[in-house]
Amino acid sequence: MKIAVYPGSFDPVTYGHVDIVERAASIFGKVYVAVIKNPDKKENFDFKTRQKMIKGAVKYLKNVVVEIFDGLLVDYAKKKNASAIIRGLRAVSDFEYEFQMALTNRKMCPDIETIFFMTDYKYAYLSSSMVRQISKLGGSVSGMVPHNVEKELKGG
Ligand code: ADP
Repeated sequence: MKIAVYPGSFDPVTYGHVDIVERAASIFGKVYVAVIKNPDKKENFDFKTRQKMIKGAVKYLKNVVVEIFDGLLVDYAKKKNASAIIRGLRAVSDFEYEFQMALTNRKMCPDIETIFFMTDYKYAYLSSSMVRQISKLGGSVSGMVPHNVEKELKGG
């Protein structure tokens, strides 16, 4: 059975992330969605809430497990016996960062391949930071994030 890990901050999870999880889950036997405990970017939701939101959003996918991880991604992937790291691609702007990260991870662990999934065009513009901004300004994020996330953004 092929195993993959899909790491991210998921702050909060959007339908763009869910789209990538679905694509990965249809190809891999098992997918670990790995919520980064301490993202580089300033976080909005703490890691437990970020995990809870994504768990709720993908609970219908039976081969997906949502965990928290800390430390080096390649070490986590090895522990899970994963052969692939999944990342999502939106516009060209994602490329530079993703390219650098994929090659760095390959240098550290040549056995694990980074695989990119292209998001559905409907979600190509969607980012967690945009969702946070809209929500803070009182706008509707309906259709951008799963219902359980909408509720959480409104204060639970
Ligand atoms: P990170 O801090 O690791 O970039 P994110 O939660 O921002 O964490 O993103 C995790 C992964 O999901 C990244 O590969 C990112 O490119 C991808 N992603 C984010 N938003 C979308 C989207 N709307 N469609 C497809 N992929 C996305």
